[in-house]
Amino acid sequence: MTASCFAQDPSTTKEVDAVYPEAYALYLDLHQNPELSSHETRTATKLASQLRALGYDVTEHVGGTGIVAILKNGSGPTVMLRTELDALPVEEKTGLPYESKVRTKDDSGRDVPVMHACGHDLHMASLLGTAAVMAHSKDSWHGTLMLIGQPAEETISGAKKMIEDGFLKRFPKPDIGVALHVGNDLPAGTVGIAPGYSYASADSVRITIYGKGGHGAAPQNTVDPIVIAARTVLALQTIVSREVKPGEAAVVTVGYFQAGTKNNIIPDQAELGLTIRTYKPEVRKQILAAVARITKAEADAAGAPREPSIQEYESTEAVYNDPALAQRLRRTLEAALGKDNVVTAEPLMVSEDYAYFVEQGIPSFYFALGGAEPQKYAAAKIAGTKLPFNHSPLFAPDVDPALHTGIAAEVAVLRDLLNASANDLYRVTHQQSNSNQ
Ligand SMILES: [Zn+2]
Ligand SMILES: [Zn+2]
Repeated sequence: MTASCFAQDPSTTKEVDAVYPEAYALYLDLHQNPELSSHETRTATKLASQLRALGYDVTEHVGGTGIVAILKNGSGPTVMLRTELDALPVEEKTGLPYESKVRTKDDSGRDVPVMHACGHDLHMASLLGTAAVMAHSKDSWHGTLMLIGQPAEETISGAKKMIEDGFLKRFPKPDIGVALHVGNDLPAGTVGIAPGYSYASADSVRITIYGKGGHGAAPQNTVDPIVIAARTVLALQTIVSREVKPGEAAVVTVGYFQAGTKNNIIPDQAELGLTIRTYKPEVRKQILAAVARITKAEADAAGAPREPSIQEYESTEAVYNDPALAQRLRRTLEAALGKDNVVTAEPLMVSEDYAYFVEQGIPSFYFALGGAEPQKYAAAKIAGTKLPFNHSPLFAPDVDPALHTGIAAEVAVLRDLLNASANDLYRVTHQQSNSNQ
């Protein structure tokens, strides 16, 4: 690979084909060696060394295992492209020849399987391919390209840790941020754009309801926390149905309910684990307040000896896709991938801690990368079934077209942004786009 062949032939396909073997090799390696959130040491070292070999100035250990790779190329804006580094405690059941067999100890010492069940391995491979194309074609853009490998996305803590570790002070502040996520809700070869709110905010809440334990045959001497918790679960379901304005996106899910040890003992306490998803900050605030009000009132109504404890332990804002930026980059992606391969995506209620970067004042473009094998996608659509979603043991993106498209899309987006001036980008992201919220 020489720099000149890219400079003379701007055809993205040819450029992507040239870097594909290197990107695919990284994909296979990472897929077979996944690491859990905040433990992505091998992954980060591997990615950092490959970016360094391409000429990037790489800083490691930013917010734990995070990496920041910078390629300066004259004056112009600073544009950030982000990938996640982490995998999940899921046992892979895809049956692929390169399926993960890795097991490790999690943070509580349990032996768990590990799998790149969210496709972050594909994001890293795509970022490497993009990094190579951009490094080989420096006459096609100007400015500062910043590639970041963010740890611990699955525990929605890595972006926050990078920011707390001085990400915005130690490195140039990006004028624009870009990220993608692969999924089976679009066929491989396509990308999807959801302007405005595209991913929800997430709040994890742990509720402990205190009662008074005793013999299962003598309820009159107890305050049964299981009954209080059961009523609480049902009452919490009235928040979205009765309190939130119809049409506002909101979810309240009780994902676990733990209490008791034996059928004839009334326990002392019960614990509920919730996840709360919304788009708008005011709806989020309303729901969190309602959860606290209902939980306390149910305990009070039952004569509980103590007020329940309500702990919020993991949270992230919604991911907001700058609408004017999305509109501009949609045209760019249509030109690069073909009009039919760029679709309007549905906003999702899943969450993503990329939101921390948006919150820090980095206007962003976050898009969906199709991962489904096109024939399987078409068959599922006809049958009305769904292909295995991210986090499933069966999640397996159609790597060849998805990775080619990921690189082509990232390169097109970065080149568009890195041919503008920082002022132009400021104007795009600060026009009256907020009316679309
Ligand atoms: Zn995930
Ligand atoms: Zn993910």
